[in-house]
Amino acid sequence: MDDLSYVAAVDLGATNLRAGIVDEEGKILAFSQNEVKDLTNCMDIQLRISTMIKELTAETGISPKAIGISTAGPVDLKTGSVTGSPNMKCETIFLVKPLQEMFKIPVRMMTDCKAGALGEYHFGGAKDAAALVYLTFSTGIGAGVLERGRLFCGANGNASEAGHLLVDTTWDLPCGCGGTGHWEAYASGKGIPNFFRAWSLDRIEYDPKSMLNAGQILYAAEQGSPLFISFSDELAKINGRGLSSIIAAYNPDLIIMDGPIVRNYPSLIARKMTEHIDRYLPAPEIRISALEGKAPLLGASAAAFNAL
Ligand SMILES: [Zn+2]
Repeated sequence: MDDLSYVAAVDLGATNLRAGIVDEEGKILAFSQNEVKDLTNCMDIQLRISTMIKELTAETGISPKAIGISTAGPVDLKTGSVTGSPNMKCETIFLVKPLQEMFKIPVRMMTDCKAGALGEYHFGGAKDAAALVYLTFSTGIGAGVLERGRLFCGANGNASEAGHLLVDTTWDLPCGCGGTGHWEAYASGKGIPNFFRAWSLDRIEYDPKSMLNAGQILYAAEQGSPLFISFSDELAKINGRGLSSIIAAYNPDLIIMDGPIVRNYPSLIARKMTEHIDRYLPAPEIRISALEGKAPLLGASAAAFNAL
């Protein structure tokens, strides 16, 4: 088998670590997934990643020629590390150098949203977009921006951090980054329960022991519960503000939304927020990702191929 055509791709999130062996067409030949939310040590995460790559190599008999890493941010591209992530327990995770030394092949790293944008561009049918925004709603909220195929990175690789756009000054909810009123403090998987609690305090008797998770809240809205529908209307306004800021900042012709919150609730979350886009803005085409949560992994593979 011509191993030149294969790379290892890694997608490190706050909850799960995914890895795959991927070919140039974006076909994932082997894939594995592990929970990492209990790992608090940088070395443990490095070890888990390298073990998964070795297992996939043994399983397929393919030696990848490069490694691409998609990770929850923020990243420090100078040191090849994830540093101070509000959604991860480990303060600094060095990735590029240790993996490069271990496998003796090129390693490329970027935030998951930038990888997601690359994944959509190469493998998700977004090649015709002049300005593509990939916007994901997961544990946090993030965006990746491509202008005519070129990734907009910023000085340290942390440009377009959509989750930390200011969207509210009424509830002033605290964000994991230390700020207040930021988009992901309201509308991410982690933020929705907090926002629901703050919003519903003067509406219902609240028992802190019975705090609902994002899935339970959104499911109740979808089932037609008036209280939860009313909350989802408020959430849509918040999402509309974030989305309007994204459109104003980047003038995209295509926005691809991703993440379990959007994929599981396309009408309640995705369609409803588009109704609150500032009407003075040029409306881009908006789609939901068809890559089933694999856009960051596939984007990481594209970055790895670029390194060859
Ligand atoms: Zn923030």
